[in-house]
Formats: sequence, structure tokens, C-alpha cells
Amino acid sequence: MPVRVRFAPSPTGFLHVGGLRTALYNYLYARHHKGAFVLRIEDTDQSRKVEGAVENLIQTLRWAGLDYDEGPDKGGPYGPYVQSERLSIYRQHATQLVEAGKAYYCFCTSERLEELRGKQQALKLPPSYDRHCRDLPREDSAKRVAAGEGHVVRMKVPIGGEMTFQDRVRGKVTIAHKVLDDQVLLKSDGFPTYHLAVVVDDHLMQITHVIRGEEWLPSTPKHVLLYQYFGWDPPEFAHLPLLLNPDRSKLSKRQGDVAVEDYRAKGFLREAIVNFVSFLGWNPGDEREIFTLDDLVRDFSLERVGKSGAVFNVDKLLWLNQQHLRRIPPADLVPQVNALIAERGWPVPSHEKLKRAIVLMRERVTFVHDFVDFSDYLFRDPDQFDPEGRAKSWPEDAAARVESLAGRLEPLTVFDHPSIEAALKELATELQVKPGLLVHPTRYAISGRTVGPGLYELMEFLGKDTVLRRIRHAVKTLGGPWHAFDRGM
Ligand code: GLU
Repeated sequence: MPVRVRFAPSPTGFLHVGGLRTALYNYLYARHHKGAFVLRIEDTDQSRKVEGAVENLIQTLRWAGLDYDEGPDKGGPYGPYVQSERLSIYRQHATQLVEAGKAYYCFCTSERLEELRGKQQALKLPPSYDRHCRDLPREDSAKRVAAGEGHVVRMKVPIGGEMTFQDRVRGKVTIAHKVLDDQVLLKSDGFPTYHLAVVVDDHLMQITHVIRGEEWLPSTPKHVLLYQYFGWDPPEFAHLPLLLNPDRSKLSKRQGDVAVEDYRAKGFLREAIVNFVSFLGWNPGDEREIFTLDDLVRDFSLERVGKSGAVFNVDKLLWLNQQHLRRIPPADLVPQVNALIAERGWPVPSHEKLKRAIVLMRERVTFVHDFVDFSDYLFRDPDQFDPEGRAKSWPEDAAARVESLAGRLEPLTVFDHPSIEAALKELATELQVKPGLLVHPTRYAISGRTVGPGLYELMEFLGKDTVLRRIRHAVKTLGGPWHAFDRGM
């Protein structure tokens, strides 16, 4: 049977990292097995529906490169793919279960249910329905429904015994029927609950594997029962481990961002996010850490998904971003960096120049925006000198030394790494100082910073005129040797 999997989000807000993980694992499983990946929107709880959430979901999946084969905007043979457009299908299935004696109409008012809940609470019992309407004669109930009396449909859970199912991640799961409530399947507004809709849809859409977060594990016994009641074969289940904060509490907004959107906005690359998310519960079983989406499709398997919670470690994500950024061909980054430069209103360099700037910096940055945030001096004269670096990089005699260096650089006809290096080292020998005593102040003078790419490469990149101009400006601004006299030294 060809593999068919689905991602079935509820449109209650922006797509979270956990949701992206579920989508990714389904996508990988489908592509690895040359099967189909379906997107289904589960919007049966209309009160939790958020405007624009479906669009955000679709857009985020597209951004991450997780293309699906069937879905609301794509169509497909098992549509519609939005649950609110399938209401008659659920009602029909609920009625079928009532007729088979596997479900029943319940007329309990919300007042009665509240009172019941209150009593249970007082006795410190878990909330559950007391099965008040379970044994009403079926003809009577059918008449009341036909007369228009408000009702829900509840499933009849067996009173005693237990049930067992296999989970691809958790193994054998056994649950006593007594812990299961007579779950509402169809609400009084005619909408199904999640439990009915998910089972009906997974069956009708011929889903072979249900891969979803662990929070749905407690619902699965009800689903397995429903499959039995309908006389259908259940799909295989795989419940993915919980996502945890570094302190091992459940991942929550309180300890950081959880929406994929937030990471996108911070400049994280899709390659890094996908790679990072892939490791939240899965690992390749060896030392490899850098994976592209294609690598993941090749190597992913449910066998290597673990049971224990996966810790969300932002440092790892930052590292992966660096790694993936280095792997992008510099020419491909030019348009993005160009746009950032234009945004700041700086003169836009030529394509070649920008490509060289990217090569110079790419081992040193984490984000694309770092190219302009940390190395603005590649594109324009620095507008300040890092005040904290001054004491170390610009000692009293720095000005005199860099001025001498400027004097040595001026006559150079070839201004490249080897000639600059030779000139600087020659001067260092003459002055009887270590080259560092020339290197550090010069870097500070021409970039305003204490760290950056190799100085000779940087100077070659900037060109002689710019280097000399900046050195002279620094000497003027930061102070020359005369300061020493001012202080009576
Ligand atoms: N609609 C559920 C959600 O929002 C999906 C649960 C499932 O995959 O069965 O997470």
C-alpha cells in the first residue's frame, strides 16, 4: 500500500516549532517512501479559529520547502481538505454509529453537566460524563432528535476491560476502558469534535501513518475504538516526543520564541531551522549534524525517533545557522546583502565587490544581516570607534605608528595582501616592535573595531585610498602623540 501521511494543524495561531517538526517528519516519511503528503485543516473548534492562521501555515510550510501533494489550496482526490467543509460527512458517520449501537444521543443540558462537574470536583474526581443518556431507548431518542431537541452524539466506550495498540515510537500501549470518557463525537452545533473528524478523515483520505505529537497519545485509544466501531483498519501510529525547554519543562512561550515566524524574522535560514527541527526527536545514529532537506529525506526513519523529550537548544540553532550560511555560494547571498545595504542608504557596491565582502566575512557571521551589522566598515567609513576597544587597541603611541605605516603604504603601486604584509613587517622590524603593535591600531583605525577578518585581506579589499583616508581620519579623531605632551608626559 503506498504511504499516505498528513499534517493536520488547527488554525489557532502562527505555526509553532512543534508543528513544524510534525509537518517535517510527515514530509520526510512521505518523500522517503515515495508516498503522498497531505495538508488538512482541522478547524472544527470554531471558537479557537484565528484569522489569517491558515495563510500563515501555508506560507510557512512553503518557506520551509515542505511541499504537500494534496491540500486546501491544491485540491486532490479526497477533498475538501478543510474540516468545516465536510460537516455532512461527519454527521452521516455519527448517525451510522448511533444506528449500530456504538454511539448515542445525549440530551443533557449544559447546566446538568456543570452541576455534575461541580460534584466531581468536590470529590476530587476527574471530570467525566456519568452516562446518564447512554441507555435511553433508541426509538425515544430518535423521536426527540427528530422533534428538534438539542443534543450531542457520544461514543459508547466499553465499561470493562482494556484495549491495546502499537505505536511506532512508544511500542505497545495498553489502556483500561474505564479511564476513557463517553467522548462527545458530534456537538450540539452540528460540528464534529476533533476525535470523530480525525478518524473519519484519516480513513476516507486513506492515511496509512499518523505521525503527530505526543500530546495526542491519550486520545489515540478513543480513535482506535472508533476504527473498530466503523469496522475499519486503523493506520499505524507514531507519536513524537515532547519538546522541552533547556530546564526540561514543557516548551513554552515563556522561555523564548516558539513561533517559526519569530525565528524567520530574526534572520534564521530555512536550511538551519529545518536541520535543527529534524533533530528534535530524531538522530541519524552517527556523528553527522549538518543535513539538507534532501539528506534528511534520504536518511529519515521512524526507527530512529526517540521516546524521550527533545530539548530545544537555541545555541545549537545559532551554530547550525552559521554552518548553513557558510555553505551558501557567495553569489547567491549578494541580492540579500545588497538589499540590506540599500535599506540603510549606503552606497551599493558592485556585484563583484559585494561577493568579495561576503567571502571575507562569511566564516565570521551567524546571520545574513551580520554582513552589514558587523561589517558596515566594508561598505562605508566607520562612523565611530568602539569605545570599549580603545584602551587596548589605541595606546598612547598608536597614532605615531599608524602614521608611519601610512607613509610606507602610500608609495605602493600594488596594494595587495603580500605587499601590505611586507611593508608592515618591514616597519615593525625597523621600529623594533612586534607586528601586532601595528596590526591592532591599524585595524581599529580603519574599521572602528577590534575584531574582524585578516587585516591584510581587509586592507586589500578596501583599497589604498580608503585605507589611507581612514588612517588619517583616525589619527585626527582619536588623537596623535601630542596628547602625551598635553598630559605632561
Ligand atoms: N488538529 C490537531 C492539531 O492541531 C492534529 C492532531 C492530529 O494530528 O491528529 O495538532
